[in-house]
Amino acid sequence: MNFSHSFAELGSAFSQPVALSPLNEPELVSWNTDAAQILGWDSLPDQITELLNGQIPLERPPVASLYAGHQFGVWVPQLGDGRAAILGEIANEGIDWELQLKGSGPTPYSRGGDGRAVLRSSIREYLCCEAMHGLGISTTRALCLINSKTPVYREEVESGALIVRMAPTHIRFGSFEVFASRGQTDEVRQLADYVIQRHYPECLQSDNPYLTFYQKVIERTAEMIAGWMAQGFSHGVMNTDNMSILGLTIDYGPFGFMENYNPDYICNHSDQTGRYAFNQQPNIASWNLGALGNALLSLFETSEAQSVLDGFKDLYLNAYKRRMSAKLGLDKVTETSEKLIDELLHLMRDCQADYSRTFRLLSRESTWDQATQLFGDSGQFNAWLLQLAECRASHADCEYLALGQNPKYLLRNYMAQIAIEKAQQGDYSEIDRQLRLMLQPFDEHPESEEYFAEPPDWAKQLSLSCSS
Ligand code: AMP
Ligand code: MG
Repeated sequence: MNFSHSFAELGSAFSQPVALSPLNEPELVSWNTDAAQILGWDSLPDQITELLNGQIPLERPPVASLYAGHQFGVWVPQLGDGRAAILGEIANEGIDWELQLKGSGPTPYSRGGDGRAVLRSSIREYLCCEAMHGLGISTTRALCLINSKTPVYREEVESGALIVRMAPTHIRFGSFEVFASRGQTDEVRQLADYVIQRHYPECLQSDNPYLTFYQKVIERTAEMIAGWMAQGFSHGVMNTDNMSILGLTIDYGPFGFMENYNPDYICNHSDQTGRYAFNQQPNIASWNLGALGNALLSLFETSEAQSVLDGFKDLYLNAYKRRMSAKLGLDKVTETSEKLIDELLHLMRDCQADYSRTFRLLSRESTWDQATQLFGDSGQFNAWLLQLAECRASHADCEYLALGQNPKYLLRNYMAQIAIEKAQQGDYSEIDRQLRLMLQPFDEHPESEEYFAEPPDWAKQLSLSCSS
């Protein structure tokens, strides 16, 4: 495996070498051929489990990266990869992919933690990375999942697992904040230069490359958040250390896709104040971008940063409205499409309609009857449908557009729970099944039709916290 090590070569201010702590009796649970193909790997590389489990010496040790962050709004001066290790970058078709192990044991930044990840949370992250990719939302990818016999202590004993994540870089907002907070402006600049050269080279043409870089991060973040909001996704832990400098969805913990529509939905039961509630996500993204702007203030003027940041709201709203109109099958944002969305969301809230089912059933006129049932045959909904029909009459290809925006299959919490419980019994088949489904969520999969139904009653008791 031919790794290059550009991030490690930035130097010891940015990362520290890590000795991997192998898991006992590692077992390859799932290999994501879709992600492997991006690396140019058409078959399973030899001894891959042993290699990823730290049983085969690497030419150069992996590294853990340093960062800080605002966690639930509170400044934490030092965090860092406490249970992740970067193996290096693999180049394919002109793109470098950084491979990162998560759950590979303690690092210099573990702060007393065990450096492990449990099977339960690793399955959730593995499936959700790929579900987001399938939905067309920018995200880190997941290459594979390994389980083991290593006991890991959380609320109870669970098995230690490992996932391999892939992204052009895993650098976060907090990676800049840590140096800015210590007055290390040279390191802030060095890290910005590294990210710009490798990931935002178009900025080098501008009069003020650093400000343009900040602008681009804002644009990508706005697009990502619009994707989350349009697909009903709640991240759950939008701390600045969980915000990617590339605008990728990263660090999946107590995330959740909204089921019965409720804009105040809080997926993380540890989030008592609802700081990261569903409808707060655009505001929080803007707050986090402000924290990033502060960390970059040695590179441009405060007033310049503020005016760029002020643009976030419109960037986000435009992207969101575009996506929501498309979900109705309308290829342009108009006053009518905005009104239709607004009214639909109100009706969905009143009727507690299932968010993704509603939109999927609205995609084709032939399933509008079924959609009506979600609204208790309400007269208001039927009146709304008439308006949609009238609006669609002046647009072409509405059904085709809508079907490509409204997934038939979504990674509902209860589905991940089924995969987890089976895996805990030693049956990993459900993970691969759901992986395939999530990579093609807009297609029909008749063999998995049951996952299009409303979630079963037992699913309502599921509770998610930060424990992972
Ligand atoms: P998270 O909430 O997963 O984004 O993690 C926040 C911080 O805690 C990051 O710096 C993680 O690396 C660290 N962390 C989380 N779990 C562990 C663990 N089991 N051992 C060591 N560090 C951890
Ligand atoms: Mg994190």
